[in-house]
Amino acid sequence: MEDIRELTKEELSLRLKAMGEPSYRTSQIYDWIHKKHVSDFDSMTNLSKKTRERLSEDFYITKLRAVSVLKSELDGTRKYILALGDGNVIEAVLMRYSYGNSVCISSQVGCRMGCRFCASTLGGLVRNLSAAEMLSEVYAIEDDTGERVSHIVIMGSGEPLDNYDEVVRFLRMVSDGDGINISQRNITLSTCGIVPRIYELSKLRLQITLALSLHASTQEKRMNTMPIAKAYELSEVLKACRHYTRETGRRLTLEYALAKGVNDSMEDADLLSSIAKDLGAHINLIPVNPVEECGFSEPSRENLIRFRERLEKAGANVTVRREMGRDIDSACGQLRRRYMIDAGLCTD
Ligand code: SAH
Repeated sequence: MEDIRELTKEELSLRLKAMGEPSYRTSQIYDWIHKKHVSDFDSMTNLSKKTRERLSEDFYITKLRAVSVLKSELDGTRKYILALGDGNVIEAVLMRYSYGNSVCISSQVGCRMGCRFCASTLGGLVRNLSAAEMLSEVYAIEDDTGERVSHIVIMGSGEPLDNYDEVVRFLRMVSDGDGINISQRNITLSTCGIVPRIYELSKLRLQITLALSLHASTQEKRMNTMPIAKAYELSEVLKACRHYTRETGRRLTLEYALAKGVNDSMEDADLLSSIAKDLGAHINLIPVNPVEECGFSEPSRENLIRFRERLEKAGANVTVRREMGRDIDSACGQLRRRYMIDAGLCTD
């Protein structure tokens, strides 16, 4: 059995042709799956019973079930725990901004990158998500709210470039005019810096924004918090990012999670601003979200402001990430982790 949501429109058309279906079926079925988000063939009421039966012999349709939804009273943020077909759970978040609804999706169940401040990696990698499952995260949230999603950030659990093929398939399908049609310019892919994959991605010339999780301004400091830095030197990562910008014309974002006493000195700020200026990159400062098991704490309000002002004085382009849904707590893999601990599924 194959997941029909995984197929591009062209692939679907070939399968249907092989089944002897007329060509107009492709658009009918693609609409049901990607515009109306149905998850069973019986709902496809403009198809004959025979066609529906034929389809259900060869295919199934991914369905994600929301097992928990936390709603913020402050800003309308919704945090979802979604169950996959095999019983694994992932998290996704809806954030409402003045410019539209943005969804933060997971790209893997768990993660194997081992960043020391991150909750998503504590239990290791369980498996990759399929493109259909990533699409279904967005569809499930549109269906729950009845509102259109206009922006996507691949910043939930997982390392998207460690699941390269499915993430690229997802990017193509989610920005397809025949599907949910989200502009590539409204999509951000965040990576810890898997150098060969940044070069591969550059070749595709997608118009998405690449965000590099930098979190430290020297190779030595980066190695202390991000094991991936042992595989790829900071200078190599920055070179790959410069190449991405040159190939795609897209401005890079540098993500920098500020942790007290770890990477928040004025010297850190000076090195960071020179990296950003050199790359023509935008800096996104994120006060670290303390994870009990990890032992990092947020910088004081004053230090955050001092750090930002130091960057600005040096002429860097910087924003501080606003924390959404402060009243519903949990972020960056903590939601899933807490859910699993409560359900007795997680013992480490
Ligand atoms: N693996 C990808 C995307 C997922 S993580 C990456 O590394 O970019 C999304 C972002 O959240 C990354 O910048 C990550 O470093 C950051 N992050 C993870 N845990 C965090 C925490 N406890 N506080 C603040 N940011 C965190």
